[in-house]
Amino acid sequence: MKLFFHGGGCGDACCLRIQDLSVKYGETCIFEHVNLHVHCGEMVALIGPNGAGKSTLLKAILGQQEYDGVIAFSSPGARDRRPRMGYVPQSPTFDPGDPLSVADLFACCMSKRPAFLGVSRSMREKVLECLDRVHATDLIDKRVGTLSGGELQRVLLALALEPLPNILILDEPLSGVDVEGIHTLMDMLDEIRKEYDLSILMTTHDFSILPKYADQVILMDHGMKIQGTPAEVLASDAFRTAFHVKGGQ
Ligand code: ADP
Ligand code: MG
Repeated sequence: MKLFFHGGGCGDACCLRIQDLSVKYGETCIFEHVNLHVHCGEMVALIGPNGAGKSTLLKAILGQQEYDGVIAFSSPGARDRRPRMGYVPQSPTFDPGDPLSVADLFACCMSKRPAFLGVSRSMREKVLECLDRVHATDLIDKRVGTLSGGELQRVLLALALEPLPNILILDEPLSGVDVEGIHTLMDMLDEIRKEYDLSILMTTHDFSILPKYADQVILMDHGMKIQGTPAEVLASDAFRTAFHVKGGQ
């Protein structure tokens, strides 16, 4: 097993460091000895076969899953403070018959006002501001259950960006999105991370986007197998073993 790590320290730049991380469900070890380092402003893709532990690792970072090891964050002026994280979970589903609109969804998440009182004018303005970040103001009155895969991801992304996080965590944002939509969404994520200087950690099974969009790729398969540039990881023996790819590239 060969691991690639970025050399050197970060000084005062914000970053996420994970050291010797392990997670168990009962007696079953899902992964152990995971080490990784996400630098501020980076797009990091987490790949691996189904059941490899990708979602579990994201939940540990989010504080939703118990773990052993160290998850540390440093940022200018606030070392090791817990960062603000935005999260879009894997495959959320909404009932197509549910009357909940995009505006209602934001209002439920962002205010204590009972939903049956409707969305106030000031909240509607705020929702439009949020949707504007993902070029989706036209979706404000659509019912959430009727959105296409790409539209739903944009709405959930807008929700995860309010308030603006330090780290944006996306679990398989490209599943259920058509080929054209995948490039639109990836271009948007690229634009967002540059504009707001945030780090993005996302899981994906779409390896075609890695060379263009990812700064680092981490391959997990019940532990971390390799971390490096897209070219390094996609050409590695660990990648071929994990995905049963025969022969060379
Ligand atoms: P991935 O996201 O890489 O597909 P997961 O992190 O969802 O993988 O799951 C890793 C392993 O942990 C799988 O074998 C899964 O069945 C198991 N697992 C996930 N959540 C739980 C849970 N709450 N209790 C027990 N086992 C779980
Ligand atoms: Mg998963």
